[in-house]
Amino acid sequence: MLSMILLPALLAPAQADNPPDLVAIQQTARQYIELNQQQMLDQFSDLLSIPNVASDLPNIRRNARHIVGLMESAGFDMQLLEVEGAPPVVFGELNAGAEQTVMVYVHYDGQPVQPELWSSDPWTPTLRTDLVERGGVTVPPEAPFDPEWRLFGRSAGDDKAPVIAIAHALAAMSRSGVQPSVNIKLFFDGEEEAGSPHLAQFLDRYEHLLGADLWLFCDGPVHQTRRLQLAYGVRGHVGFNLRVYGPLRPLHSGHYGNWAPNPIADLTHLLASMRGPDGRALIDGFYEQVRAPTPAELSALDRIPRVDITMRQELALGRTEIPEQRLERRLLEPALNFRGIQAGGTGEGSRNIILPSADASVEIRLVPDQTPAAIREAVERHIREQGYELVETEPTPEQRQAQPRLARIDWGDGYPAYRSDMTQPLVARLGQLMDEMTSGELVRLPTMGGSLPLYIIGERMGAPIVILPVANHDNNQHGRDENLRLQNLWDAVEIYAVVFALLGA
Ligand SMILES: [Zn+2]
Repeated sequence: MLSMILLPALLAPAQADNPPDLVAIQQTARQYIELNQQQMLDQFSDLLSIPNVASDLPNIRRNARHIVGLMESAGFDMQLLEVEGAPPVVFGELNAGAEQTVMVYVHYDGQPVQPELWSSDPWTPTLRTDLVERGGVTVPPEAPFDPEWRLFGRSAGDDKAPVIAIAHALAAMSRSGVQPSVNIKLFFDGEEEAGSPHLAQFLDRYEHLLGADLWLFCDGPVHQTRRLQLAYGVRGHVGFNLRVYGPLRPLHSGHYGNWAPNPIADLTHLLASMRGPDGRALIDGFYEQVRAPTPAELSALDRIPRVDITMRQELALGRTEIPEQRLERRLLEPALNFRGIQAGGTGEGSRNIILPSADASVEIRLVPDQTPAAIREAVERHIREQGYELVETEPTPEQRQAQPRLARIDWGDGYPAYRSDMTQPLVARLGQLMDEMTSGELVRLPTMGGSLPLYIIGERMGAPIVILPVANHDNNQHGRDENLRLQNLWDAVEIYAVVFALLGA
């Protein structure tokens, strides 16, 4: 994406009324990186060596205090925000006297580890030339560094790199006399990998500190092609388990096989009634609340490099469900997925019986403006229309006998999707800046396919949210041998310097 060329220009401090241009900021950042790689890597290693599982509160607090120190050196006023029983939010402010304020969201906790699966201790940062499975070997952590080398450790890719990169972006700017064009606030979550259970409480209690014009979510990987990517939303999620009933005890399939109702047949008919062969839901009202893609979202899709053909090859797929629609277009629609079916046995486990019940697990990925409540109502109405009575707990024999068709439904917790408006002025300005910075190679993803509870922030704070990831796509986040490619760290410094220096200019 961005080459590691050392550019010879030396910059004069910028004038307040004459902000530096993009190329000048990029040069400033690259020169700074060239001169400070060793310090950045040392600081990154120090941060990665503090264990950071959200439930490990003593170590989580060590992380928080360590980050406070780092960000104070970068010029932020720092404090820890507290709610009972939660890892603190590391909060920072840098008031540049600008009109607009950007809130940077990062999480400093990481997924639990299974050290026995790792090639080195997860909290002893280790520099290697590449992934171990590609022949990477350990090298001493001393400059000069090959930008393809990777630092391995829990949270190297998810999500401690932005902490280091933001601190150094500001150091690079201040050494060249470049002022931030926006006020900057930091919201570093300490329990994201645990599902951020206290996020709403933090937002409510500290609302007076958290005003911002844009939330930048610095988490996740860049595009598989290594291009920089902005994502403007996420899908919501809701799921349920479904059980249908046959006889009270297993019956001989020869003696009773076309007399007693077969729950596997009933379940598969019920599932088939919900989803067509093209993947579209057949449930009345399912698409009623779906917000149509905007012209800006559709034109962003056209500019994303196509992965359909290579992914089909990689996955040996003979077809996709709607061949004329690319992957990213499908993500703008809700999805009805069957996660599992459980009943009886197959192969060696086959038995000639009619079963008492059969189960399915179903999930729905929601898009704006669907609500979990409305979807729940539509699904339940659909099942009733197929002739079923619905219960939410295990029915008694009397209940089973009283209904020709009976199904039990158990809903999980759900939450809605979030998508910001790509044409909102500050959101559009960010896209334009990143696009210029990458010479037109920016990937604008209207929504990620996955789910995050961004609506909690979107609803409460009212400011748009944009996801700006910096990690390499093969960073093994959540897994063994998590890593960050050094070029991605260097690039991140440049990205943040450009955003801070020019977003509000
Ligand atoms: Zn993350």
